[in-house]
Amino acid sequence: MSAVPLRNNKSVASAVRSVTVLGATGSIGDSTMDLLRASRDRYQVEALTANTNVQGLAKLAKEFGARFAAVADPSRLNELKDALAGTRIECGAGESAIIEAAARPADWVMAAVSGAAGLKPALAAVDRGASVALANKECLVCAGDFFMQRAAKAGACILPADSEHNALFQALGSGNREELVRVIITASGGPFRTWASADIEQATLAQALKHPNWSMGQKITIDSASMMNKGLEVIEASYLFALAPEEIDVLVHPQSIIHGMVEFSDRSVVAQLGSPDMRTPIAHCLGWPDRIVGPAAKLDLAKIGQLTFEAPDFERFPGLRLAYDALRTGRGATTVYNAANEVAVAAFIAGKIRFGAIARLVEATMDAWIRSGNLAPLTSADDAISVDHNARNKAVTLLPQIALKAS
Ligand code: NAD
Ligand code: MG
Repeated sequence: MSAVPLRNNKSVASAVRSVTVLGATGSIGDSTMDLLRASRDRYQVEALTANTNVQGLAKLAKEFGARFAAVADPSRLNELKDALAGTRIECGAGESAIIEAAARPADWVMAAVSGAAGLKPALAAVDRGASVALANKECLVCAGDFFMQRAAKAGACILPADSEHNALFQALGSGNREELVRVIITASGGPFRTWASADIEQATLAQALKHPNWSMGQKITIDSASMMNKGLEVIEASYLFALAPEEIDVLVHPQSIIHGMVEFSDRSVVAQLGSPDMRTPIAHCLGWPDRIVGPAAKLDLAKIGQLTFEAPDFERFPGLRLAYDALRTGRGATTVYNAANEVAVAAFIAGKIRFGAIARLVEATMDAWIRSGNLAPLTSADDAISVDHNARNKAVTLLPQIALKAS
């Protein structure tokens, strides 16, 4: 049975829900706190977490009367204690404290840590059968099939918070699995949509950080420019909804109004539309199985006038092609794809490699891993984390030669 609930059964309960936000100080965290702020009487905040931003975390914990606050950086515990002095908010530091935050008994958890670091905390929420709004796509990509298997086993409900997957989640309820032909996830194309390969190769950090439609955290903004984000999302869709790579298409749609579509056997295509504002999919996850009031701008299609579409270019954006390759290879390949990309993005931000080298490093790391013959299905978090660590190490050793090689 799928852990994503595809049919909407209205709830009858209107009790106060307890919620936890992992990655509360980030871009998704911020949007989530905005929604909670708008209906303070409906939610009790159980736990909030951050990586290093102690002051931002403490401010939110005090504002929402959280029961627990955790910072990932273990050296920040005293700073957090000081910031929470005089309150009754418990606190902790280090990876174990983030996991503890996820394990505490909240009905609904937003998983919005950035990167594979979010895997263990997300699993801690999944294992106790919580409703988990999943924004942190890298943790799903890193864990492979077993994340959803574990969710199904624990009776956890996974609510896709990524805008495209949330659109599919909303559209999939229009038919049955046997009637599904394919899903289509849209991509804005990012800031380099119309650029020639040679210019993409040399793109600067400032250029990569200028997303045309969405305001997001740094890592995902760079992933959007390389279209690695869409690659991660193809993998995310495959695991979330148990789809084969051939059942997932990407369509470039520069206006970011249609977020995802599902085609059924009768050739009906059901789409979800909305202004590009993450508070809409997050509100859908927060309200599920009901609908709450969302703060995004009302969609004015007459004003927008035109919606346009293009096929994705796998040559200029090789990161997208590599995602399909990783999915077809399976057995940890998507873990390697994600780990190498995290290393590559960090190296690009640090000025160690060119923008064009991001995909080359991912490809070289995947090739090296396939040649090693070390391919086995992932059956536990430790398996995934071990493949992730090995791939990171491999990517780091390949960095100097990738940095030297021009395209
Ligand atoms: P962000 O960088 O703005 O925020 C990340 C949050 O995670 C912060 O609170 C940070 O303190 C915390 N964090 C980072 N590293 C951590 C670590 N090692 N341990 C514990 N906490 C850590 O990122 P974001 O844009 O909010 O994205 C969060 C996740 O949501 C990512 O997986 C991203 O791909 C996904 N996502 C984001 C958007 C968006 O619009 N921002 C849309 C769809 C999906
Ligand atoms: Mg998305």
